[in-house]
Amino acid sequence: MKPYEVLLKDNKRWAAQKLADDPDFFDRLAHLQTPEFLWIGCSDSRVPANEITGTDPGEIFVHRNVANLVIHTDVNLLSVLEYAVTYLKVKHVIVCGHYGCGGIKAAMGKKDHKQVLNMWLRHIKDVYRHNREELNSIDDEEKKADRLTELNVIEQTQRLAKTSIIQKAWKSEQRPDLHGWVYGLKDGIIKPVYEMKAGSPIDPLYEFDL
Ligand SMILES: [Zn+2]
Repeated sequence: MKPYEVLLKDNKRWAAQKLADDPDFFDRLAHLQTPEFLWIGCSDSRVPANEITGTDPGEIFVHRNVANLVIHTDVNLLSVLEYAVTYLKVKHVIVCGHYGCGGIKAAMGKKDHKQVLNMWLRHIKDVYRHNREELNSIDDEEKKADRLTELNVIEQTQRLAKTSIIQKAWKSEQRPDLHGWVYGLKDGIIKPVYEMKAGSPIDPLYEFDL
């Protein structure tokens, strides 16, 4: 059996198990999607949103990219954000990074990862530059990367608040709360590192007249 055929076989087994546990499971999900959470995570295969939070299909709306970045010109990210916040009316948006992130480590080095990846990773270099003093004071390279991972999650969470999508929802419906989390590959534990409740003050420079 080819590797991808194993996936299809396991999918059938999974679907049968779900039906055995709950005969209405797929009927219910096929008709309604009402997740409370939007998850913006890293594409890393070791950080699957549903599995590490013990949630089922239907509970978390997910967007993933390399190093969980919120970039204001990323039409993909913004479309997911708009749909989740404006139409699904999620109550929480979670940016979840993870220790041991290859994207974070790559951004700390000088290796040429070629055009597209260099462009993407530059956003993380900017986070480093904004926090250079603190990061340069950490000698241990792994600890430095861990701290940059946390600072990156904080920066991306703040960037969410700078979008008109979030500001509009904060103003009219007092949601969603924004959360910055970091997942530990070594222990499987998620550490909350930052939070912005709906309506939190932001730099007026980034406020929109809505
Ligand atoms: Zn990663």
